[in-house]
Amino acid sequence: MKSYLSRLAREIAPYTAGEQPADRRYVKLNTNENPYPPSPRALAAYREYDVSSLRLYPSLSMHGLRAAIAGAEGVDEENVFCGNGSDEILALCFPAFFDRGGAGAAFADVTYSFYPVFSDFFGIAKQIVPLEEDFTLDLGKLGARRAQGAIVANPNAPTGIGIPLAEMEPFIAQSDRIVILDEAYMPFFGESAVPLVKKYKNLLVVKTFSKGYSLAGMRCGYAIADPSLIAGLERCRDCFNSYPVDSVCQAVCAAAVADGEYYAQQNALVVAERGRLFSALVRLGFSVLPSKANFLFARHGSLSGREVYEKLRARGVLVRHFAKPRIEAFCRITVGSREENDLLLAALADIVR
Ligand SMILES: *Cc1c(COP(=O)(O)O)cnc(C)c1O
Repeated sequence: MKSYLSRLAREIAPYTAGEQPADRRYVKLNTNENPYPPSPRALAAYREYDVSSLRLYPSLSMHGLRAAIAGAEGVDEENVFCGNGSDEILALCFPAFFDRGGAGAAFADVTYSFYPVFSDFFGIAKQIVPLEEDFTLDLGKLGARRAQGAIVANPNAPTGIGIPLAEMEPFIAQSDRIVILDEAYMPFFGESAVPLVKKYKNLLVVKTFSKGYSLAGMRCGYAIADPSLIAGLERCRDCFNSYPVDSVCQAVCAAAVADGEYYAQQNALVVAERGRLFSALVRLGFSVLPSKANFLFARHGSLSGREVYEKLRARGVLVRHFAKPRIEAFCRITVGSREENDLLLAALADIVR
């Protein structure tokens, strides 16, 4: 039968997000959402939003939100770009910083699976660098690719492994190409490269409100970089959607980012639970990668990754399993609240028994 779809729409393999089944209530540890509520100030900004202004388009400059982010990150407003989730910003990075038919984008074989999808979508070559046996990334190998630029998730997903700033800075300094750092999980690590943005014109850091700010449902992310790079993102955005961040979202995220103290406390709880969960998983026979994120990547000694995933699902606990080379033995488990983690551990104890 004749298809009216483009070749791209027929053939591209899209990203698959974590499942959200509605058949029953699950302990949901499969998409790295924050177990704690957003800041009370963010929730107040939502409730107090003047809904009569929804008649109007959102602010084009996003001044309030960008100024609040700049204040929290210690940069200037001109260094800030906001988008509809950091996924949208990462997508815009491909046309903004990579040429079709050029040297391509370098990234790891095991990393955020949106990077290869965006490369394919925008027709940009992929320069895939295998992680080491222990799932660490050799930045020297990434730089040696001579791609047009590199993308590194730090901490990495789905491994959780983090690269300290002392190791990242020389990589950025020695590179004469763009370095995009996806710091979605940085609130659980604390080695952000944002302070280097003033020093290195080739550095762009992407962050999100989804994980560290408990606002995955708002869909907001931001990038911090030299204004020359920000201008490239703005040009590409304005070829696609001039208003990616809605008015309510701008108000709520501005209030959230101004409440750093609240989030520092909540995220410290996540980090503490991460440590407890790590030890408990090891006691249950898992090997667990050293995580700097709000999830653990764990492999059981005698059960396959798929078995762990399916047996947990049958017991009402959702985790993420990737049927992919090198990582099919693992499950990615979000660090939940103390109660959720206890339910997970009880289910696992039952499974491994
Ligand atoms: C969750 C995540 C994002 C954030 O996506 P949003 O669109 O901001 O919700 C970005 N990068 C990585 C590696 C992630 O895991």
